[in-house]
Amino acid sequence: MAQSNVFETVMMQFNKAADLMGLDPEIRKILSNTTNEIVVNFPVVMDNGCVQMFTGYRVQHNNVLGPYKGGLRFHPAVNIDEVRALAVWMTWKTAIAGIPYGGAKGGIQIRPWDYSPAELERITRRFTFALGSNIGPEYDIPAPDVNTNAQIMAWILDTYLQMMPPLERNRCVHVVTGKPVESGGSVGRDKATGQGLVYVLEAWAKDHSFPLSGATYIIQGFGNVGSWAARLLKPLGAVLVGIEDHSGAMVNPDGIDPDALAAHVAKQGRAQGYAGGAVVDHETFLSTKADFFIPAALEGQITAETAPLLNVKLVVEGANGPTDLDGDMILQERGIMLLPDVLANAGGVIVSYFEWLQNKRSEFWDLAEVDARLLKQILGAYRRVHDAVERHGTDWRTGAYIVALERLQTVYRERGIFP
Ligand code: NAD
Repeated sequence: MAQSNVFETVMMQFNKAADLMGLDPEIRKILSNTTNEIVVNFPVVMDNGCVQMFTGYRVQHNNVLGPYKGGLRFHPAVNIDEVRALAVWMTWKTAIAGIPYGGAKGGIQIRPWDYSPAELERITRRFTFALGSNIGPEYDIPAPDVNTNAQIMAWILDTYLQMMPPLERNRCVHVVTGKPVESGGSVGRDKATGQGLVYVLEAWAKDHSFPLSGATYIIQGFGNVGSWAARLLKPLGAVLVGIEDHSGAMVNPDGIDPDALAAHVAKQGRAQGYAGGAVVDHETFLSTKADFFIPAALEGQITAETAPLLNVKLVVEGANGPTDLDGDMILQERGIMLLPDVLANAGGVIVSYFEWLQNKRSEFWDLAEVDARLLKQILGAYRRVHDAVERHGTDWRTGAYIVALERLQTVYRERGIFP
């Protein structure tokens, strides 16, 4: 499912924006490369007593704006090319969001569903140990991504703290974000990516006289991002008419209840078997007539083959990199608007930043405060991108990249290149 050339995609998107805004060629050289690429092979004892070797990655793209920041993914398609691309997207995303972080990403090439919880715990802890001082609360801060969650962050936190001298431990709790609330997480982090997407969509809808009440939509991926986006769209009156996850797709023109589906997925681990829709194949799902589409699974979903199938007016990217270069071009030719990942899914890293701040200050913010600050931060990003789109007469992805590149260029020019 994931494209093998996803890093090439992100670089071509970058070059398009860099050409349009006239990025300094010296700074372009720096941003075209990652800074550090860590690959670790590590052994773990399985429940049956045998040892299995695993390969884990952490790619750190850029930290000129602050510590490296980005999620950890447990998926069989994880490879160095994908992790590089995801790390670069994080640099743009944090720059657009206006938070003091750089970009990184990591993961393990693994089929997590093949392992027991005890094995996953040992794999996570051993991976953390192998990464060692390549992560740290003021240096590189992981978070959840596909197939990782608050529990996995708690194991990373605990393992990292065990490696610290006792006197240091309590000031290192911000080494990961997306932790369980009781272990130093922030309220509102679980829904943050979906919430940010909904805030961006509401702002765009208001600007474009696109009523969300009664609007229909389809969603791909019903994990953290997809399920929260759908549950938060329900009170706004938007109607979910189609969903697809790894187990298959279903449609219902009368609406699928996101809360009931989320309860089903929480129990069964998949959408399959939910009684509230008719099972359809992948192509039928993508062709479903709706007002908008939220891809919230993996990259490489809207391509030369699939973009012509879409029957929507707007795509809001919950996933990272769901649209490749051909997909983008076809959507533009067909007049389908697109709100890009680096803006639309930035809510997660913004609330991760709030969690990090709360840990550093030993504070606890309530949900109202987290949501209000998220709204303010993401609307600021939305406005900056909106202005760049108008200024350059370009698409929203390129406009978003320009916001990021302008900020990075300013900082490089102020600080210079050592020595
Ligand atoms: P998740 O593991 O919680 O959910 C992933 C979903 O994708 C699941 O519903 C799964 O069934 C579905 N999926 C997997 N393979 C599929 C396939 N072949 N076809 C259709 N659906 C498939 O992951 P998540 O955290 O919700 O992340 C989803 C996307 O959002 C990723 O691209 C991730 O990088 C991005 N993202 C996540 C966050 C976050 O805070 N979790 C933040 C920003 C971006």
